[in-house]
Amino acid sequence: MQGQNQPEPKPFVLVPIPKDEPQRSRAMTFEKFSGLTGQMELEFKVVSEFLFVGSGGYEFDPNSRADQPDVWHTFYRRNGQICVPGTSLKGSIRAIVEAISNSCVLQTRRGERVSSRSHQRCEFKSVEQSQICPACRLFGTTGLRGRVNFSDAIPTGNAKLQVEKIHELWEPKKWTNARRFYELKNFQPSPNRRPERNYRFVEAVPKETCFVTTLNFENLSHAELGLLLYALGLEPKDGRYTHAFTPKLGGAKPRCFGAVKFEPKRAKLLRYDDWLAFLNPKILEGDELISFVQTCLQSCQNENLLHKDSWRTFVSGMKPKQEPCPRGNY
Ligand SMILES: [Zn+2]
Repeated sequence: MQGQNQPEPKPFVLVPIPKDEPQRSRAMTFEKFSGLTGQMELEFKVVSEFLFVGSGGYEFDPNSRADQPDVWHTFYRRNGQICVPGTSLKGSIRAIVEAISNSCVLQTRRGERVSSRSHQRCEFKSVEQSQICPACRLFGTTGLRGRVNFSDAIPTGNAKLQVEKIHELWEPKKWTNARRFYELKNFQPSPNRRPERNYRFVEAVPKETCFVTTLNFENLSHAELGLLLYALGLEPKDGRYTHAFTPKLGGAKPRCFGAVKFEPKRAKLLRYDDWLAFLNPKILEGDELISFVQTCLQSCQNENLLHKDSWRTFVSGMKPKQEPCPRGNY
């Protein structure tokens, strides 16, 4: 039997930094339109027990009883409505793109360092001299504007909010040469709602809550858009696409919060003639959209933008597990 102070099984998968160097190439410029420019409307549904995206703010109940939440961290809001900020979506998707495309490591957790010299963050000085990894080419780096962003994601219906009690999130800080992603396991609710030390309350939306966001992109190749679609959890299958995993967003990921399933709903591609005059945008929906998504995914594979070993490690680690998430330390 596990002792009181015995750590629980770890809730994350490690994706090792590959031995081979990132595939760096020259940065794209914005001078002319080339490739794909437009928007893709995406819906995502919460598939873990809860999703919590904090704002850093909190609320309190001055009349709370001893067995009720007294202070809780609030869900992010814009103009009074809850939403998942586009920057938060971008951060989560970028981390996945970095891992599955063998890109540089832009952000490290406090106390962690990347020992691989070839994976230090890309430096941009000028387009002519640039050697930029796939993730930095898409999302940008210091001095280089990104070509991708997400709009704030709004709930599609009336989102129910509930206050949940979770154990504080002390992460093991280790020097590592791998990227860490949190798995999809079962949330263990706290046996009571009493405020106590080392616990916090968070305002979260439950499973099945749906949001919509728009992915905006500029001058992407089909392969690059495909890489983004892989990072959203899609993979090609029999001329269509299927879901390979569910990415995680927001906070309390080690408590098994935050897994969402993305579904492309509509794409709008800008078109222009030889004189660069804009024509009506092309709208893709239904089967046309499915085949476009599949083409992008396939082209990402064909152009070797997807790092196959990392993708396999990532996807097998992210498979849902019928195991409890740690309630306390791990
Ligand atoms: Zn980079």
